[in-house]
Amino acid sequence: MRVLVTGAAGFIGSHLSERLLARGDEVFGFDDLNAYYDPRLKQARLARLIPHPNFGFVRAALEDQAALNAAFADFAPQRVVNLAAQAGVRYSLENPRAYIDSNIVGFLNVLEACRHRGVEHLVYASSSSVYGANRKLPFSVEDGVDHPVSLYAATKKSNELMAHTYSHLFDLPTTGLRFFTVYGPWGRPDMSLFLFTRKILAGEPIEVFNHGRHSRDFTYVDDIVEGVIRSLDRVPAPDPDYDAMAPTPARSSAPYRVYNIGNHQQVELLRYIEVLEQCLGRRSERLLLPLQPGDVPDTYCDVEALQRDTGYAPSTPIEVGVSRFVEWYRYFYQV
Ligand code: NAD
Repeated sequence: MRVLVTGAAGFIGSHLSERLLARGDEVFGFDDLNAYYDPRLKQARLARLIPHPNFGFVRAALEDQAALNAAFADFAPQRVVNLAAQAGVRYSLENPRAYIDSNIVGFLNVLEACRHRGVEHLVYASSSSVYGANRKLPFSVEDGVDHPVSLYAATKKSNELMAHTYSHLFDLPTTGLRFFTVYGPWGRPDMSLFLFTRKILAGEPIEVFNHGRHSRDFTYVDDIVEGVIRSLDRVPAPDPDYDAMAPTPARSSAPYRVYNIGNHQQVELLRYIEVLEQCLGRRSERLLLPLQPGDVPDTYCDVEALQRDTGYAPSTPIEVGVSRFVEWYRYFYQV
C-alpha cells in the first residue's frame, strides 16, 4: 500500500512510518521540520527512515498547497495519515495564528488533495482536548463535544467537522482519532515526561500544575501506532442506518468515523512522576502550581468503539513505557 504520512518527522509520525515500512508499505513523508521544538530531534528521527528503500520525503508545509499537490501527484497515495499539526495546548495561547495556519488552512489543503486525487481513506489526528473540562469520565466518543477550552482543541474539533463535510459531500472516507497523551521513546520535548526527565536529571525542580491533582490517560506510542494502522486498514463505509443529519459526531451516513484512542487507564500525575523517579533512580523536587489556562484537570479514555470495530487493545503498562522512554533518553542525550 502507498501511504502518505504528514508529520513523518514528528514523534508519532516517525514511529508510524517505521511500522508501515516494516510491514512492507511504501511511505512518503511530508513535514516542514519547523522549529516549534528542537529540529535536531526531528532530523534524527528522519535519519532513521531515510535509508529505507520504500521511504520518500519532502520538506514542505501543509499551507504550501502547490507542494502538497505535487507530493500527491508524484506519489499517488492510496491512503493518507495526517499527523502534521501545530500541537500543544499552552503554546496556542501565545501563538494562535500558527494553529489556524497548520491545523485549519493546512488541513483544508489535505482534504482538497485527498478529494481530487481519489484517496481511499484519510486518517487524521484529533485530540482528547476536544472534550474540554469537567466532563463525565471516561470520555465517550458518543458524547457531543462543543466546549473546547483552548484554540488548539478548537482546531482539532474543527478538523472533525471539516472531515465530515468532505466525507458527506465527496464520499471521502475519513477517520478521526482522538489521541490521549502519547508518550514513549523519541517523545516531544514540550510534553511532561520529557520536561520532567530533563529537569530531574539536571537537579532542577519540576513544575507540577493543578497542585498535582491532574490525571491523564497516558498512552504508549506503540499502542497508538497499532491503533492508527488498524484504523487505516479499515476504511469506513457509508452507513445507511444513520441519518445524514445525525446529531452525534461518531454517527453519520457518510463514510466518516471518529474514535477515541487511549490506554483506558486513568493515572494520577503524581503516580506517573513516582514511576519516572523509580526509573531514573532519583527523587524530584516539586514546584506545585495552579491549573494553567486552557488545560483540563482529567482525561480518561473509553476505547470501546475502536476495540469493537478494529480489535484495538492497548497493552503497555506505564511502568514499562516510562522505563523505555528513560532508556531512550539516556542513550540519545548520553546522560
Ligand atoms: P509532533 O509535533 O512531534 O509532530 C508533528 C510533525 O508535524 C512535526 O514533525 C512538525 O514539524 C510537522 N508539522 C507541524 N506543522 C506542520 C505544517 N504546517 N506543515 C508540515 N509539517 C508540519 O507531534 P506528535 O506528538 O507526533 O503529534 C502528532 C499529531 O497528533 C498532531 O496532530 C497532534 O496534534 C496530535 N496529538 C498528539 C498528542 C500527543 O500526546 N503526542 C495528543 C493528542 C493529539
